[in-house]
Amino acid sequence: MKNFGLNIWGDDNFIIENDTININYASNPSLLEITNEIREKGYKGPLLLRFPHLIKKQISTLFNTFDKAKKTFDYHGNFQAVFPLKVNQFPNFVHALMDVSKEYSYGLEAGSKAELIIAMAQTPLGAPITVNGFKDKEMISLCFIAAKMGHNITITIEGLGELETIIEVDKEFNTDIKKPITPKIGVRIRLHSSGIGIWAKSGGYSSKFGLTSTELLEAYEMLKKHELLSHLWMIHFHIGSQMGDIAPLKKALREAGNIYAELKKRGADSLGAINIGGGLAVEYSQHSNNQERNYSLDEFANDVVYLMQEIAKSKKVAEPDIFTESGRYIAASHSVLIAPVLELFSQEYHEKGLRLKEVNPPLIQELYDLFNTIKRKNAREYLHDALDHMESLLTLFDLGYIDLEDRSNTELLVNLIIKKAIALLKNEGTDELKKLQDRIQEKYLVNFSAFQSLPDFWGLAQHFPIVPLDKLDEKPSNPASIWDITCDSDGEIGFDRELPLYLHDIDVSKEEYFIAFFLTGAYQEVLGMKHNLFTHPTEAVIKFDEKGNYVIDKLIEAQNLMDILDDLDYDTNLIDRSLKYKIEDSAHISKEEKNELLGKLYLFLSENSYLKTIQAQNENKKG
Ligand SMILES: *Cc1c(COP(=O)(O)O)cnc(C)c1O
Repeated sequence: MKNFGLNIWGDDNFIIENDTININYASNPSLLEITNEIREKGYKGPLLLRFPHLIKKQISTLFNTFDKAKKTFDYHGNFQAVFPLKVNQFPNFVHALMDVSKEYSYGLEAGSKAELIIAMAQTPLGAPITVNGFKDKEMISLCFIAAKMGHNITITIEGLGELETIIEVDKEFNTDIKKPITPKIGVRIRLHSSGIGIWAKSGGYSSKFGLTSTELLEAYEMLKKHELLSHLWMIHFHIGSQMGDIAPLKKALREAGNIYAELKKRGADSLGAINIGGGLAVEYSQHSNNQERNYSLDEFANDVVYLMQEIAKSKKVAEPDIFTESGRYIAASHSVLIAPVLELFSQEYHEKGLRLKEVNPPLIQELYDLFNTIKRKNAREYLHDALDHMESLLTLFDLGYIDLEDRSNTELLVNLIIKKAIALLKNEGTDELKKLQDRIQEKYLVNFSAFQSLPDFWGLAQHFPIVPLDKLDEKPSNPASIWDITCDSDGEIGFDRELPLYLHDIDVSKEEYFIAFFLTGAYQEVLGMKHNLFTHPTEAVIKFDEKGNYVIDKLIEAQNLMDILDDLDYDTNLIDRSLKYKIEDSAHISKEEKNELLGKLYLFLSENSYLKTIQAQNENKKG
């Protein structure tokens, strides 16, 4: 894994310079210097850094690529795009998104009432808003209010019931009004072709969403009867997220394009847009043998434009406007989660841990000799001898012939020999050596919660690129697995010998070592769980001034302990009182000590739940 696969997932957003990973923008600051500056302000624990310039890059690339495709094919419809809020609703993200997208008339997509309120408040008038998902009368009424504010809003109906409600709400809002205003109407179609991947349920006949052809014809009649046909303007589909293969999209485009053309020929004159939903994939892989996407954005845009043009031409209807609702593609790269390594869990496999005796059992003496004399030439043979001795020694222990110290020496020596053998034979990469890496992997305890910050790793085994912030001029030698600080064994990113991660050998009592998780900007934040009550990490927005220097903006600390309990609806006054009385009433401590304890307690209550450091434990262990 050269450069931690940066050439595969990095999209030129970061560069490795000397020993650090740096932002490939403006003055190219390293992630380490930004991290250190924030930590010096007193913020410990994991940090989520947001980079608005990367949001801007994604939006402009999306618009420019579709522009280019339109020019290539001389396409007459417009290209428009909205950001689906479900992918990231956090204010530091949404504000940056709206700020960097001003020149594109970029809008927002909402799938719930709360998201709709964000869209109504944040979208500039004129930029599109689309509203998908199941809706009740209240939500549809909110869409009418948005339209009356002057918003360019489209309600996508997911079923005939919603259309009935629209007709009803339209009467309530527009009867006896001089200039009636009704939102635009879109219909989500139930595709015959199905989606793919883990999210396949979003498309296809068994999908939760969309109208069948029969329902579509019925909707057409209803709109006509209630004089709303002039508001029908969009056909919508969404085939699922992280679409790795382009083929299902092409099928869906043909299906949707023909539905568009058929409805137009039938008399839906105002119909003018196809909304192809999201699904544009992000390359998360760090290994070239495991890439997640088989197409480029150019291919994606060319396919969409070309297929729509073909259908419009053959059915002799106008070329539709093309809408996208890509979310993952826009948001994923904008944030990086940075977390300190607290401890390495295999330091026990260190030579200094050996407890050799004056006289050792012969097999142990032999292991020790193997360890001291192993060379490239004899490495494979010595390795096999060591594994063999280990089996015998463990049997001897079970039978009571050797003691616990002997057993500990056995484990240590065998692991040290495996490590040496792997290093000596590193060019041979045989299956046997790959398997042995599992045995000597180091467990890096990292100050973050996988449940909170990488929920898709927990739920869907989604991989996120992992890179240490420094030492990148040294070849990392430890096969690594990563443990988070929750008390849950699912919070472990295990070592995978087919897709190995290697990290540096470090002594955390002497130096800090940070791990960065990239491409965490889509879906991971609101989906994050408060397992063990670890909450959203401390976050900051990193901007650049005119000189190209970075500026740390909008720093928000992770919630403190009392706020976390308050969120669960604990009465924090009662908790506060209970803690205080228990100290004050304690019969075992003096008045001064009580005051001191109270002072400490209140300090801790004002802090967040992530670990500050466990250096003290390391000190104890050494002492
Ligand atoms: C989730 C969703 C999207 C976004 O999908 P991405 O894969 O993140 O691009 C777009 N449209 C609809 C209707 C969705 O439900």
